Amino acid sequence: MMITDVFGTNVFSESVMRQRLPDDAYREVRHVLENGGRISVKTADVVAKTMMDWAVEKGATHYTHWFQPLTGITAEKHDAFLSRPSEGKTILRLTGRQLIMGEPDASSFPTGGLRATHYARGYTAWDITSPAFIKEMSAGKILCIPTIFVSYTGESLDNKTPLLHSMEALSAQALRIVRLFGNTQARRVTPSVGPEQEYFIVDKARYLQRRDLIYTGRTLFGAPAPKGQELEDQYFGVIRERIGGFMRDLNLELWKLGIPAAAQHNEVAPGQHELAPIYTTCNVAVDQNQLTMETMKRVANRHNLVCLLHEKPFAGVNGSGKHNNWSLSTDTGENLLDPGETPNENLQFLLVLSCIMQAVDDHADLLRNAAANVGNDERLGADEAPPAIISIFLGSQLDDLVEQICAHGSASASIAAGWLDAGVSTLPVIMKDATDRNRTSPFAFTGNKFEFRAVGSSDSIAGVNTVLNTIVADALAQAADELEGAEDFETALNARIARNMREHKRIIFNGDGYSRAWTEEASRRGLPNLRTMVDAIPVLTRPENVALYEKYKIFTRSELESRTEVLYETYTKMKSIEARTMVHMAGKHYIPAVVHFISRMSDSVNKTLSASPEADVSVQRDLINRASALLAEAYREENVLSREVEKLNELDDAVSMSFHCRDILVPHMKALRAAVDALELMVDKSLWPVPTYGDLMFEV
Ligand code: ADP
Ligand code: MG
Repeated sequence: MMITDVFGTNVFSESVMRQRLPDDAYREVRHVLENGGRISVKTADVVAKTMMDWAVEKGATHYTHWFQPLTGITAEKHDAFLSRPSEGKTILRLTGRQLIMGEPDASSFPTGGLRATHYARGYTAWDITSPAFIKEMSAGKILCIPTIFVSYTGESLDNKTPLLHSMEALSAQALRIVRLFGNTQARRVTPSVGPEQEYFIVDKARYLQRRDLIYTGRTLFGAPAPKGQELEDQYFGVIRERIGGFMRDLNLELWKLGIPAAAQHNEVAPGQHELAPIYTTCNVAVDQNQLTMETMKRVANRHNLVCLLHEKPFAGVNGSGKHNNWSLSTDTGENLLDPGETPNENLQFLLVLSCIMQAVDDHADLLRNAAANVGNDERLGADEAPPAIISIFLGSQLDDLVEQICAHGSASASIAAGWLDAGVSTLPVIMKDATDRNRTSPFAFTGNKFEFRAVGSSDSIAGVNTVLNTIVADALAQAADELEGAEDFETALNARIARNMREHKRIIFNGDGYSRAWTEEASRRGLPNLRTMVDAIPVLTRPENVALYEKYKIFTRSELESRTEVLYETYTKMKSIEARTMVHMAGKHYIPAVVHFISRMSDSVNKTLSASPEADVSVQRDLINRASALLAEAYREENVLSREVEKLNELDDAVSMSFHCRDILVPHMKALRAAVDALELMVDKSLWPVPTYGDLMFEV
């Protein structure tokens, strides 16, 4: 089999449309794809029929509107193509109306109160810019039609609608900028996104023995294995056979869906891996990333493995994130983030760069909010992921330019990219990137794109891209407002670049983002440090953020309020599930095992002493004493935690509930875990009720 035989075979792509649609229908679709707008009902009927025929030929039996509600994952409800038989003949049907619109019974999706005030109806509407595709599942083959999801009164109830609006806003403002530089050809500017996805793989049978993995996606207990990631022998190491089989299958499934999984390798932690696709248009990348996560789980299951997408499945080793690579290109093929050979002369690039500095500095709070999810609280700032403080890393070449411009108003020269000579004559000399790397930075320039690294591995990347698109659109708009009216463009341009860079230089940080010194330095610079998810939630409704989003029609105030509510609710739900799971595991698994261990040891001491009263049982006694003390501690914490979870029922607003979780539950969860983990190191392996870290991470 060749990759070209399978690639994209399950996608109703533009080339399929070109082949199968009548000319006029295809032309109309093309026009909408290029210029926006809607297709006519007549054409929708034609497209729907063609799409259905294509899908049925491939074995599909059902279709679904595929959408991305605020749960962060995707939703679908399958409808059969089958309709009432006519004259004894089976009729398959997908009408234009069914293609364009749906009304899922969606009353249980999170809406943060929106639905209550605006009736219970929710509509899905076809997003013509994301191709339809066929998903192969055990339930059969399903034609998936990507849609947005909105309420009866038009408020968005999903992650896709605001994303599409933000892309339009960004295109409009970026076009103004390229026009200033004489580009009259471009009709659109589009963000491209390539998300690198990290994940863990564990054995399914072992997974099923751990309630914490089943209920919460992460381990809530577990002493570190004797070997962790300190040898760094896993990173880029040889991929183990069983994992290799999984990856091979995964690639095949992704290729069918037109997702170009390009690179795969082992990550830093044992059992951790990464998959990077080839980048594509922002909204398509968001869909593809959702599909990738779904497919990873499904394919892993086939191999008796489980794919963990949680941000921190194991304490003490690296967690998982998603690197959101983001760049900006015209439809004529120019990447606005490409510095070129001599960036000091590339004033369009410098203007865009300075606007990005402004955007990130002015709206660091929104970027931090976009990375906030429950799992990420265990990761951000924990000496591995980027810190919770948002800053930009530019690398030596651009950094030098910013220095020059801040000092002199312009830059006279650029540091050139160098050559890396390994010193062995038979090896090629490698062209070094002009920029080096800094793994600790949350927002790093990497050659011709920025890489936002703080997104959680399980999260949708719709949120962060909505923020990036919007804040950059706004900074570009401000520059365009000023420059379009300038009498002397050249002078005004240089002044604008220098002003942006001088005013926002504080956002640049090239040092070690994990260090204590940076926390202190960032606070001196006045950069926000929103440490937990709960700290990051309320920024959504700050007046300046509401104004920004309303200006570009991304979110209304009530949408932002509803999203705030959903975030608080999600935090509380997840934390209380974690706390209850810990109470369950302590009560049902750990404490009984330790009691058994202690009584068995006591019996043996008694037996030994009755046989020979002079025997030395000091070690046994010591173990009994220490285990008993830890057992008492675990028991006490289990009871406190159990009481404190129930107290949530007495609170009635989302904010105080999440404070209760963060400030009361989380510390007791830590204390309970500490006692149990200490016991794990003391109790016989044969008595320990669940698989250990070593079992989970090293035995796949
Ligand atoms: P790095 O080594 O900097 O992480 P890679 O070449 O491994 O870069 O690419 C990482 C991800 O970035 C890939 O998904 C890739 O498709 C994506 N990417 C590369 N160039 C761009 C670009 N111009 N815009 C957006 N994403 C990009
Ligand atoms: Mg990367």
